[in-house]
Amino acid sequence: QTGDSRAAQIPRYVRINTVLWSVEDAIQHFVAKGFALKDSFPASKKEFSKDEHIPALLLFHPQVSFQDEVSYKTGKVILQDKASCFPAVVLNPPASADSAVIDATSAPGNKTSHLSTLMCNLGTLFAFERDRKRFSTLQTMLSKAKCKNVEPINADFLAVDPMDSKYSKVTHILLDPSCSGSGIVNRLDYLVESEQEADSVQEDRLNKLASFQLMMIKHAMKFPSVQRIVYSTCSIHAIEDEHVVRAALESAEALSANFELAPPSQVLPQWKRRGYANEMHDPSHAASVVRCLPGEDATNGFFVSCFVRSSADDEQEQ
Ligand code: SAM
Repeated sequence: QTGDSRAAQIPRYVRINTVLWSVEDAIQHFVAKGFALKDSFPASKKEFSKDEHIPALLLFHPQVSFQDEVSYKTGKVILQDKASCFPAVVLNPPASADSAVIDATSAPGNKTSHLSTLMCNLGTLFAFERDRKRFSTLQTMLSKAKCKNVEPINADFLAVDPMDSKYSKVTHILLDPSCSGSGIVNRLDYLVESEQEADSVQEDRLNKLASFQLMMIKHAMKFPSVQRIVYSTCSIHAIEDEHVVRAALESAEALSANFELAPPSQVLPQWKRRGYANEMHDPSHAASVVRCLPGEDATNGFFVSCFVRSSADDEQEQ
């Protein structure tokens, strides 16, 4: 299969920005525009359906364009691949006036706006982005989606002092750092070519990315009140996924702060495709992480894991 033919199998996923629009009103709007609501994958350009795993996510036929759709222009809907909706749902951020959450690597901002929506626009979501140009894209996205609880910060997350009192109440962190992007379907053709070109160059690049990704997780574990950290990539390589998680679990930061993997029941339990057991030190850990395979799952390739701080009570029970 080529990247193009795989892309043709991915529905047009449309996430309702529930701060601005209810799912019921959105459905009524699309029905009034002539679309028929179905229970199954939309078979024609005139059908749509509700996603079975992600609340407030609608599926349209891959060839339906939203560029001229008013709800898209006004931020009431966000065009976001299904797999890319997993991290915010798994992080499950709190929604109250004193909630404090970090998105460590935010631009272009789809997951930031998803987090903001799940927080019902309450509390504070600190959204870091290192790159200046991408930071400006993030700002545009946040204003279009009318996110009111986000404080965008143009800075390197690794340079942030976890002991800064500003972040003392942060309980949840989303880490979706730069990765090889090897799961992105329309890049697959290119990747096949580049893989043929030089395996050693690719291996070196993946190793460098994995060291950086591990550093980001270890840094997040240093925030004093953090209870839950989601780490995700759009890479299909175990070296950036299971191997990074494995190294993070064995790190001094995880051991001293009592981090372990969240149980499978907290990580999209209805999603069948889990991690590669043979790539984890403890094969039982594979059930705690989620994978999406391009060409198989009607999404791009994706990986999601979640670290939680075990409480003193949990330890006494063991
Ligand atoms: N979560 C984003 C979304 O769903 O729209 C996509 C994030 S993208 C995979 C990774 C982003 O992290 C890039 O924009 C990159 O510039 C930024 N980044 C990489 N290293 C960073 C760091 N140390 N601190 C802050 N941002 C960083």
